[in-house]
Amino acid sequence: MYSIITFFTFKQLAQIEGHNEYERILNLYTFGRQFSLAKDEFAKDDLQAFKALSLFIKEVNNLKIVFIYDINLLRKTLKNFEEFLEGKVIFEHFALEGDIPKDKNLLEVALETETYSIYGYFLRPVFVYTYPIYFDGSVIGKVAFYETFHVNAGLLGGLYLFAVLFTLVNMYLPVHFFSNTVKELNFLSKIANKFSKKDFSNIETLRKNIRKSEERNELYELKVAILKMVESLDQHIRQLQKERQSFENLAFTDPLTGLYNRRMFLEIAKKNINEAKRYNEPLSLIMLDIDHFKRINDTYGHDIGDVVLKFLASILKNNVRASDIIARWGGEEFIILLPKTELKQAYKVAEKIRKIVEMSTIKLPDGERLNFTISLGVSSFGGYEDLEELIKKADIALYEAKRKGRNRTEVYRTNLSL
Ligand code: GH3
Ligand code: MG
Ligand code: MG
Repeated sequence: MYSIITFFTFKQLAQIEGHNEYERILNLYTFGRQFSLAKDEFAKDDLQAFKALSLFIKEVNNLKIVFIYDINLLRKTLKNFEEFLEGKVIFEHFALEGDIPKDKNLLEVALETETYSIYGYFLRPVFVYTYPIYFDGSVIGKVAFYETFHVNAGLLGGLYLFAVLFTLVNMYLPVHFFSNTVKELNFLSKIANKFSKKDFSNIETLRKNIRKSEERNELYELKVAILKMVESLDQHIRQLQKERQSFENLAFTDPLTGLYNRRMFLEIAKKNINEAKRYNEPLSLIMLDIDHFKRINDTYGHDIGDVVLKFLASILKNNVRASDIIARWGGEEFIILLPKTELKQAYKVAEKIRKIVEMSTIKLPDGERLNFTISLGVSSFGGYEDLEELIKKADIALYEAKRKGRNRTEVYRTNLSL
């Protein structure tokens, strides 16, 4: 990031200062390379040649130059040491020649190394390239090429402000991103928790959240994956519920007529009897059976027998109260429970049904008309019997009806044997 800022700073400087300041910085940095190559080629250990080359490069690049000799090293290396020092500026243990810098920082760099560096003040940086000066194979000083730059304070201030803002934004972004991520993850975990309890009411909330998502990141992918998973789970559960419902229907109803089967009837009737007992209410039962049904089957076939059964079932459904419970007791035998109904009333209902059946005609596919009759037995709750006993009494009454010639209704009486 800092290299980006530095690059940007230099680039801005180059553009706004208008001159080729930026280019000159680059020059200073690249010419050093040329310099050291050139030095190796033409001026190995030849001090005069080295100086000439240095001055030439200074001119070409329009730089300042200073030769810095270490007096102690000169003394050891040069025979005409005193003579050499003539005309040079002595500063501490250095002899300086050329453009003497105001800033003495330049002197502090190690002699032996080739360096690029920046000295000076914030608004007036000095860019420096130094190279060691050799004589007879040993280092006696260094040459420093340098250039002072004048930086526009407002511009630099602006740039640094920009850098600070940039840093802050960079620091803030992860926090912002993470807090958003944490929020999203919390949301997902809450929803997932509900899903695990088979509460799918939030599917739409998740869908909306996904629609609103702007970024297509990993979190988005996760949300979509969860949604897909939950949608298929939801569908699966709905399917299971449907199947369970149809199994339950099969278990509780008779597939041919759609009426309750014996098992379901017993369950419901027990509750009704208990209620009648508790509230001291009347309750009646009608047991009915198709007369000579075997004959119908034998004459018209089993399929027509089934049509008759369905036909009778629909007559029953259409002619009792909604609170009455009708069931197929087995074969061609049906049972009706009439809550809150006295014996007399139940008898009337039975007779009404019998007459309707008697008067009804089934039109067969080949155009033939089929009539049939039913026999019925009625029993009524005396406040003490259990369900089985009551059914038995209705059955006895029905048997009596059959015995008396069929197509009739008989009421259970005590003189009929249990
Ligand atoms: P009754 O008047 O004495 O009741 O004589 P019935 O012939 O009706 O009585 P029976 O018990 O002798 O015969 C009942 C017949 O009902 C025998 C059986 O094959 C037939 N049956 C029972 N269940 C079904 C069914 O689901 N479909 C058809 N088509 N016939 C059935
Ligand atoms: Mg019968
Ligand atoms: Mg029968």
